[in-house]
Amino acid sequence: MSSFDTYNYDVLVIGAGGAGLRAAIEATANGVSVALICKSLLGKAHTVMAEGGIAAALSNVDERDNWRVHFADTMRGGQYLNDWRMAELHAKEAPDRVRELEAWGALFDRTKDGRILQRNFGGHKYPRLAHVGDRTGLEMIRTLQDHGIHQGIDVHMECTIINLLKDGERVAGALGYEREKGQFKLFRAKAIVIATGGIGRAYKITSNSWEYTGDGHSLAYHAGAELMDMEFVQFHPTGMVWPPSVRGILVTEGVRGEGGILLNREHKRFMFNEIPELYRLQTADNEEEGWKYTQGDRLAKRPPELLTRDHVARCIVREIKEGRGSPHNGVFLDISWIKTKIPNAAEHIKKKLPSMYHQFKKLADIDITKEAMEVGPTTHYMMGGIRVNADTQMSTVPGLFAAGEAAAGLHGANRLGGNSLSDLLVFGKRAGEFAARFAKENSQGVIDDRKVEAFVQQALEPFERTAGDNPFQVQYDLQDAMQDLVGIVRKEDELVKAMHELKKLRERFSKVRVIGNREYNTGWHTALDLQHLLTVSEAITRAAIERKESRGAHFREDHPQKDEHSGNCNLIIVKGEDGQMLVKRMPLRDMRPDLIQIIDEMK
Ligand code: FAD
Repeated sequence: MSSFDTYNYDVLVIGAGGAGLRAAIEATANGVSVALICKSLLGKAHTVMAEGGIAAALSNVDERDNWRVHFADTMRGGQYLNDWRMAELHAKEAPDRVRELEAWGALFDRTKDGRILQRNFGGHKYPRLAHVGDRTGLEMIRTLQDHGIHQGIDVHMECTIINLLKDGERVAGALGYEREKGQFKLFRAKAIVIATGGIGRAYKITSNSWEYTGDGHSLAYHAGAELMDMEFVQFHPTGMVWPPSVRGILVTEGVRGEGGILLNREHKRFMFNEIPELYRLQTADNEEEGWKYTQGDRLAKRPPELLTRDHVARCIVREIKEGRGSPHNGVFLDISWIKTKIPNAAEHIKKKLPSMYHQFKKLADIDITKEAMEVGPTTHYMMGGIRVNADTQMSTVPGLFAAGEAAAGLHGANRLGGNSLSDLLVFGKRAGEFAARFAKENSQGVIDDRKVEAFVQQALEPFERTAGDNPFQVQYDLQDAMQDLVGIVRKEDELVKAMHELKKLRERFSKVRVIGNREYNTGWHTALDLQHLLTVSEAITRAAIERKESRGAHFREDHPQKDEHSGNCNLIIVKGEDGQMLVKRMPLRDMRPDLIQIIDEMK
């Protein structure tokens, strides 16, 4: 029998980004014992990398904004596949969550009269993103940590959860290992919140860092929870493309929000060429009007560079495919041109986009106040995730909750920029509150020691093999297959080919070999991550095959139109009795009449 430390908590929160921290704060505030676990150091989560801002209808910059407009924008952006109740709660509660963050010490940029400043972002009708320059996530995570740290939360850093444990139908605990020493840790808990973020590392070009291997999605799926909307992977239109070592690093949408324009190699502003019908009435049809919008002219319409991310990414791909791309297979993003419009443009850019200025100066030797950047799409965000109840955030497994990027529902087929940080605050809080309530109403479940032992042995198997594949090589090959076959533009034969590739990769995974010992062994860590990467990659591919239409982030070259008939559903991924992955269609719930009315009024 293996030996390991055992811990008992009422609520276990897996993931210490914005969603996990907010959930942990709320659960402690409800009087239960809480542990917060993270794969890397506390503070090193995607949330800290968030640049552009938090979307909330505070109406500080434009008083025409309110929760109804935010709700309608979010639903339109998600192509109406969103869980409308989540979109409603999110739009209504986001302003309070932002004000609460301010009360806890967050220092936002200010309007001239001292209120929280808000900026334009793609798909948002009015300036809506509360921000701190282009370092909003850093301020958000600092504030949540400072506030949370005094609440008595136990933090287990550099600890990776590899299995969830159940008592009958309900969740009862989790097994993890300490990355530094390689020791196992058993956590018994009455309720668990999954807040593990995204899946970006399933692709070769991504803005996501090494931790984002879809662990929470996969842990929940193997524990019997349903996944939803897995075909919708967001490819952000603007990632760095050069030099190769930094390919994929994000270039914030804030650049376009501040007036940045997209140009092809002929220096033509190509985004005016194709405006989707759904946005025609809201989009400028000339450059001057677009510029005025970015400068706060309330009568002007938004420039096409601020259309939704799915659309902008596809327009960029078209320019590159048709031979009008930049030298390194991207297009140009130019903010320096604003010197023809405003005095002291260089200082203005450095003040508004300090991280972007330093990022390009240090990594690409480009001065963005003088030259255009080269950019191209990068895998950025996962709309799909664990299916949860909109109000409580509980999954289909009793006691198992999810929030943030690991959960599905709010964003539908495409997320609007800024709607993630607000999602973390609104639904992190709800997940913490309802997990605490569940923990108070239920006793601790019983964990079968034999099951734990079996998971431990399974995790150690790669050390015991005398021959086998290198886990890093399997991960690279998986990323190549997903990038090439399940990327921005998809078609049936390539998706089917991806399924064959994934089958072969799964066979190789069952034989991966790790050398050395358990202390900080990144080969072993990668071998354990592979299980999750394979699960989410298969879920994405199966759902992409099933959705035979183009909608939001899912574009099928062989089915380029939206199918209002068969496409109006969510796709659910669930583990069948025989362990096979199943895809089910779930019809959309009828929307409440008052919400339908809001959408109709905002059209
Ligand atoms: P994360 O912040 O990703 O945190 C996940 C946590 O889970 C981490 O602590 C990680 O260590 C832990 N974890 C993962 N797996 C395990 C495991 N197996 N065991 C234990 N712990 C685990 N959104 C916006 O709204 N506005 C923006 O301006 C914006 N800018 C962005 C810029 C960049 C560069 C990126 C990458 C994203 C940006 N986003 C933005 C998206 C947004 O930042 C993320 O969607 C959001 O931060 C996700 O938060 P989260 O709490 O769900 O997860």
